[in-house]
Amino acid sequence: MTNVSEIFGTMVFGDAEMKARLPEDIYLSIKKTIRDGRSLKLDVANVVANAMKEWAIEKGATHFTHWFQPMTGVTAEKHDSFISPCEEGKVLMEFSGKELVRGESDASSFPSGGLRATFEARGYTAWDPTSYAFVKDQVLYVPTAFCSWGGEALDEKTPLMRSMEALNKQALRVLHLFGNEDVTSIHTTVGPEQEYFLIDADMYSQRKDLMYTGRTLFGAKPSKGQELDDHYYGSIKPKVQAFMQELDEELWKLGVLAKTEHNEAAPAQHELAPIFSTANIATDHNQLTMEMMQKIARRHGMVCLLHEKPFEGVNGSGKHNNWALSTNTGVNLLEPGETPHENAQFLLFFCAVLKAVDEYQDLLRISAASAGNDHRLGGHEAPPNIISVFIGDELASILKSIEEETAYTAQEKTQMRIGVHVLPKFPKDTTDRNRTSPFAFTGNKFEFRMLGASASVAPPNVMLNTAVAEVLSEFADILEKSEDFQETLHQLIKTTITNHKRIIFNGNGYDTEWIKEAESRGLLNLPTTPDAYARFADAKNLALFTKHKVFNEQEITSRYRIGLGNYCKINLIEASTMVEMAKRELIPAICKYSKFLAESLYYKTQVSKHKSQKTYEKELMERLSLLCTDAFEKANEMEKAVQSIRAEKDVTWRASRVRDELCPAMEGLRAVIDEAETVTDRAFWPVPTYGDLLYGIC
Ligand code: ADP
Ligand code: MG
Repeated sequence: MTNVSEIFGTMVFGDAEMKARLPEDIYLSIKKTIRDGRSLKLDVANVVANAMKEWAIEKGATHFTHWFQPMTGVTAEKHDSFISPCEEGKVLMEFSGKELVRGESDASSFPSGGLRATFEARGYTAWDPTSYAFVKDQVLYVPTAFCSWGGEALDEKTPLMRSMEALNKQALRVLHLFGNEDVTSIHTTVGPEQEYFLIDADMYSQRKDLMYTGRTLFGAKPSKGQELDDHYYGSIKPKVQAFMQELDEELWKLGVLAKTEHNEAAPAQHELAPIFSTANIATDHNQLTMEMMQKIARRHGMVCLLHEKPFEGVNGSGKHNNWALSTNTGVNLLEPGETPHENAQFLLFFCAVLKAVDEYQDLLRISAASAGNDHRLGGHEAPPNIISVFIGDELASILKSIEEETAYTAQEKTQMRIGVHVLPKFPKDTTDRNRTSPFAFTGNKFEFRMLGASASVAPPNVMLNTAVAEVLSEFADILEKSEDFQETLHQLIKTTITNHKRIIFNGNGYDTEWIKEAESRGLLNLPTTPDAYARFADAKNLALFTKHKVFNEQEITSRYRIGLGNYCKINLIEASTMVEMAKRELIPAICKYSKFLAESLYYKTQVSKHKSQKTYEKELMERLSLLCTDAFEKANEMEKAVQSIRAEKDVTWRASRVRDELCPAMEGLRAVIDEAETVTDRAFWPVPTYGDLLYGIC
């Protein structure tokens, strides 16, 4: 049995380790740096670096790396050894403050979305002391931000930290108006629930689509899908159990608060949920979790698929971003309070989120937009492409009572008066079991459920933090000027409800009626990645990001180009893989089967006295021949389309051609091949089927 408390955080240079190893003044100085986000003086950094190195060497490290999150979807690292030559051909193990604080990196191989054209190709990584260093595979990992030489963000972490700072600043203004002078900082807390699939490694390596793209581009549905709901929370298979156990242990050593592991709705699908932490650490830890899932699955003869939609007709994998605001005094600002005063504060923050989500629906949608997630959203298994907020019936009736100045229940005679009345208790359980909502209030936090499984949680939190910071700054402007705080507060909450209640939807998000209703409410319906990205640089979004110093205009343009560029690249790779598989594996396999049928027919005609016109073989051969011709033509057309789209210079135009020409063509080719699969002898099918993949782990 593993002693969890003994192994937890053993590979992390955390607070306890720093306290034990650093002189007190240095320890206090670094604590202050972490708290206030200041930069570290070099003499302090030298001492910290040395202690960190000593500790890392004790843990077996020989190298260090500045670990960062470029916009490739995965983390990046370049290992340098600690060695430094000294006399007589010997080496010393060295790690200076300078090496800890700042690293130089050739930024030219990472996506910069055009920022490189205006700045030098060099980039630098800067230590983020708010996320602890750790040792993994004999390397000391130093979490860092990654910027261009001109200071432009080239990664996911930098804007996240800027957005946390913006929110901190504005939320503090509001909190101080409520008299909470003891609060000196506010941070966003995030708990990302992670879904994934586990499949057999041998089967994986037999499918080019899985190897090149992470999802199946062909595959007829198995006769048993997920309709029996027998996998959800079902008993965990021994092989999967062993994987989960090792994963938990490895994550615990790295200080990741892995908490819950269970089976998900689809066969072979599972979920891991951590205990929440600050948004910055949660983002780093989620990256580590995804990496460890993939690595450890391999050790157990399996492959972990993090694609949003690995199998058609089977639920895809998402990531739920649970989000709340917490003060340095430990108060969750989204927790309804016990007193009228606390309730008023809760309602103001709650309404700020409603308004932010309503006004910046497009940004939240963009944060979940990717080629893979386009296959998942709106497919009656994940939220639709329309952003709305689920708040539950109790809260809805309270907001209605505030807005209309009426009693909020039949029993309750009084209306809700902000600052005077206590909120009625609403049981947490009723606040949300509606899984169809993209953005749900779940008792004391909001849960954004649109993200695909492989996405970084940084972008949605950048959007949310910045949008909420903006609304809080507007609220603070109004409240700071007010002569009658309670009255202004009441009116502010009331008008916010009136102006933004259209974003509230407690019904079934999978219902087609909702699409129509959402349109009549004026909510945005952005079905694909290019549709969403088209709004990124809208004037209101530029104003938002520049005002709060989260992105400047070039950074937005760069992210726009990178986002759409990735969308194009992924679809183009998928299309090419389809052509290759169709022409070189699947169509030939169907032909071989047809030959087998022809031979069978030939022998039959030799021996049979009755020369029947109609035979099974003939009928099937004709059908397969038509399908093959159709598939071959479709593959040829797609090959041409891929070439022509690749040559397109402008990314916006390229993306719209991918959406309008390539994606439908891919679906067309797939439909033909999938149909052929259902009538081809299994023994001739050259790749593992859906049934093999989904039920292949015992
Ligand atoms: P479930 O959604 O399964 O009912 P919970 O609501 O307890 O489970 O938690 C789901 C996720 O939300 C967990 O990862 C948890 O850590 C996270 N979470 C809980 N409270 C907060 C909070 N205040 N801020 C951010 N995340 C939170
Ligand atoms: Mg959840």
